[in-house]
Amino acid sequence: MSAESSSHYTVPGRDCGTCTVCCKDLAIVQPEFTKLPGILCEHCVPGQGCGIYETRFSICRQYDCGWRSLDNMDDSWRPDRSGVLITLEFSDQGLAGANLILVGGEAAALSDRFAGMVAGFVESGTETFLVMPADAGMMAFHIPLNGALGPAIHARDLGEVKAIIAEACAAMMAQEPVPISPELMQPAASATAS
Ligand code: SF4
Ligand code: SF4
Repeated sequence: MSAESSSHYTVPGRDCGTCTVCCKDLAIVQPEFTKLPGILCEHCVPGQGCGIYETRFSICRQYDCGWRSLDNMDDSWRPDRSGVLITLEFSDQGLAGANLILVGGEAAALSDRFAGMVAGFVESGTETFLVMPADAGMMAFHIPLNGALGPAIHARDLGEVKAIIAEACAAMMAQEPVPISPELMQPAASATAS
């Protein structure tokens, strides 16, 4: 999790409920607690939520996924239902980046509605990345989408958008996993390993 991941705005009524996806699929690198991505946080009670909610870490308090922060998403986009964890990054000008983490694997990325969502991010100028998680302890794979999708989006060709997304998934799945370097899991590191 990173502080940039929060808009500090959540859609009214958009509660986590029984979802605990970010407690498993994101890294935590804090002075008091470190956790690799892909490993469920030891404080998480599956099906219930945070077992230390009142005293949870500041990074956890600051984090909201895209489903909680974006008005134009219905309940089916909750990450444990959709298989897509959206982590947003903000600048002073507003939304700047979106990492679309395929916690549900390739299948989560092959629908018309996923392609439509990606097209919306890219069209609005948001730097958009497709992210394929690897096994616990391994680096996730990232592919930038804006450049590759520009012509297809401009041509309103949703089929081509879907084909490019499928190719990106296949390319990531064909790569050899690389272990997360211990330096990235040091609290002083500026990057996280989500
Ligand atoms: S992934 Fe989103 S909905 Fe799920 S627990 Fe995290 S913040 Fe809540
Ligand atoms: S401390 Fe709580 S909110 Fe933070 S990752 Fe662990 S279970 Fe989730």
